[in-house]
Amino acid sequence: MKKIRTRFAPSPTGYMHIGNLRTALFSYLIAKHDNGDFILRIEDTDQNREVKGALNFIYSVLKDTHLEYDEGPDKPGKYGPYIQSERLPIYKEYADKLVDLGGAHYCFCSEEDIQAQREAAEKKGKGFKFVDPCHHISVEEARKRIAAGEKYVVRQTIPAEGITSFDDAVHGHIEVENSTLDEQILLKSDGFPTYNFANVIDDHLMEINCVIRGNEYISSTPKYNLIYKAFNWDIPMYVHCPPVMKSQTQKLSKRNGDASYNDLIEKGYISDAILNYLALLGWAPEDNEEIFTMDELIKRFKIERINASPAIFDQDKLGWMNGEYLKRMPLEKFHELAMPWYKKVLTRDVDLRELSMLLQTRILFFAEITGYDKKVLNEGAEEATVEHVPSIVDFIENTLEFNPELYRHKKMKTTPENSLEALYWVKERMEAFDNYSDDEALTQMFIDLAAEKGVKNGRVMWPARVALSNKASTPGGCAEIAHILGKEESLRRIDQAIKDLQNALNA
Ligand code: GLU
Repeated sequence: MKKIRTRFAPSPTGYMHIGNLRTALFSYLIAKHDNGDFILRIEDTDQNREVKGALNFIYSVLKDTHLEYDEGPDKPGKYGPYIQSERLPIYKEYADKLVDLGGAHYCFCSEEDIQAQREAAEKKGKGFKFVDPCHHISVEEARKRIAAGEKYVVRQTIPAEGITSFDDAVHGHIEVENSTLDEQILLKSDGFPTYNFANVIDDHLMEINCVIRGNEYISSTPKYNLIYKAFNWDIPMYVHCPPVMKSQTQKLSKRNGDASYNDLIEKGYISDAILNYLALLGWAPEDNEEIFTMDELIKRFKIERINASPAIFDQDKLGWMNGEYLKRMPLEKFHELAMPWYKKVLTRDVDLRELSMLLQTRILFFAEITGYDKKVLNEGAEEATVEHVPSIVDFIENTLEFNPELYRHKKMKTTPENSLEALYWVKERMEAFDNYSDDEALTQMFIDLAAEKGVKNGRVMWPARVALSNKASTPGGCAEIAHILGKEESLRRIDQAIKDLQNALNA
């Protein structure tokens, strides 16, 4: 059997849709599962969509995600060039050949002619299908007109009758009547091919024998197959992947706040977790396992288990998975990754390792450290609104406002009044205590204090935690926070809280 060759063929738009990256991953996995080649080809024939720096962006995403290609623009192989705009003479040559083979014809119609036909059809209330008068021009005559400098395009010639069919590995047998296919432009008047032509020529010349792409291309595939047939080329295996959607009916869209790959990276998701999650968008293993290394994915990935129905991108599920990746990494690694995030918001000299220990099991992604904007699409709303989620470590900088009501906690049986009393006890104990880097010893100190005073632990621990943080919810309890802040700062905060409570109660 021939070695399998797949490709990822992005257009350089400067933006990596989740669905695109998922398709790249599937192409990579399908190739690597059978020790095949995975090729990167840049489809930049639509020069209007060109974005500066987009090429480097594609390289860097593929590098980050470990989707290592065997050939590509920056990794020459024997099938190059791998950038379509550098292959224009090839498309011209094959377009002319296709005309000779009867699979295409030269067309001299202007856009205005076509528009006029379209309007006439619409006036009659008919659906528009362009019927090309240039069909009747002989190839010799057409070439004479071209030599004389007339503007032209190359259009596909579709048989008026018959059926074109193919088998898709995901969607099964697909048949269309040729009469429903339009005679699309293959080569434009400026010499650039359309996607519809370039993809066929390149896939053939690059010996791509398994085409993996989004299912929006299914309906055009019969037209591509007619081109393969006209050339008498082997038709590749087709794997049209299900779309990645927000819900059964809503597409993912940037405007509605749906994340692209870069958005996720900017929020501090890690690329291995993103890729792992993407693998499950439209594919599932035989068992219910969900966490896979890339090597495991390569081993387990089977085309037969790609699902035809839309895959739903569930941000919460991705968050869960990212959290799992964070929990499973060594603390050292987590700490190293968290460091730049701390630097953005923390200026105090606190025990960041202790903080990392607490956060490693509590955060789902790193932007929780700095706080982040969350786009929310409310029911019925046209556009997403932005909500700011505050930093999970905002208590460290001591910028939060005192609020006596935080001391009132039904279950802990605390009130501002009895919290003040508890803080006097806490202050005395914390002054006498020195081992702030030992969470267990610190915790025991609070437990002993409560026991001595004959109250439940919460009666001293809740006021201590609120006093140290001015928050009702913190990662870790009073012992961990005291550890992070250290003795001096902890005592300063207890003192301040006592003063604030006294003032509030006297007011
Ligand atoms: N350039 C196309 C796109 O970005 C690729 C389609 C394909 O994989 O054939 O959508």
